[in-house]
Amino acid sequence: HAKEAGRDTYRFFTPAMNERVRARLRLENRLRQALEQGEFELWYQPRVRLADGCICGAEALLRWRHPEEGWIGPGDFIPVAEESGLIVPIDQWVLEEVCRQNLEWQRRGVGEIPVAVNLSARDFRRPDFRDRVVRVLDDTGIDPRWLELELTESVLLQHTDEIMATLQGLRSRGVNFAIDDFGTGYSSLAYLKQLPVSMLKVDRSFVRDVPGDPNDEAIVKAVIELGQVFGLQVVAEGVETEAQLQFLCRLGCDSVQGFHFSRPQPAAEFEKLLRQRGKFATCD
Ligand code: C2E
Ligand code: MG
Ligand code: MG
Ligand code: MG
Repeated sequence: HAKEAGRDTYRFFTPAMNERVRARLRLENRLRQALEQGEFELWYQPRVRLADGCICGAEALLRWRHPEEGWIGPGDFIPVAEESGLIVPIDQWVLEEVCRQNLEWQRRGVGEIPVAVNLSARDFRRPDFRDRVVRVLDDTGIDPRWLELELTESVLLQHTDEIMATLQGLRSRGVNFAIDDFGTGYSSLAYLKQLPVSMLKVDRSFVRDVPGDPNDEAIVKAVIELGQVFGLQVVAEGVETEAQLQFLCRLGCDSVQGFHFSRPQPAAEFEKLLRQRGKFATCD
């Protein structure tokens, strides 16, 4: 092929690669269009407090209503959005929409809960990030205590002056931070102490095989104790069974999210759940 092609660029650019690049570009263009045409939606998953079974928060999770292919989850488009930089306007939309929706729930008396937003590292590390969040807070007029920002350990590991300034600046405005997927990175105790975070979210890969798997049991127990030592709330993700729930209760976990209580649901469905003021059955 290289010989026939005659141009150097064709030598390594096989038809299969060509197709992958094209597919990526197609998705990138479709994502841009999706944002313009309002095809994104936020679904909400409750966070349940183990002490009383109340819904004490929610996490907003991005969904794409594709006109031909139906619902598409973030795993299938966030990586391309991150590579292309489109994640910045997408995360911006998510922030605005969460604040708008939460204020609307408050105004209509549906309920008052903090709502968590997932942020891409690519977005958080931008120098204008802090100002963009502050602008959303100012424009919507929401009390910052109703906004939680979830960051992964990897972002926080490079705790440069810029990242610390962003965290502290937003924290001083009243925004809360959570470390998402906790345990999958390499946090050191020293760094945890310095960060203005208020919540650790135990990654669901550690919750899946408890009780039973001694390593995972030890990890979950250690994270909960770490949270207690540092005065951080500990949330377990991916709780699917009664046995997992009771295990987390015994260890003194603060709150949980997972299919055992509720899957992420469209705003209108989540609103019904909030209005009921119901309590989930938790610890025996
Ligand atoms: P995450 O923040 O760790 O979110 C938790 C994921 O676990 C969600 O997947 C949720 O639907 C799923 N989940 C919740 N409970 C259970 C359970 O009991 N069992 C199982 N098997 N799964 C459960 P989802 O919605 O597909 O989101 C995947 C990831 O995409 C998120 O992980 C987050 O990192 C990212 N993401 C979601 N929304 C956004 C967004 O608005 N912006 C950015 N930048 N990333 C987002
Ligand atoms: Mg999250
Ligand atoms: Mg997570
Ligand atoms: Mg995750």
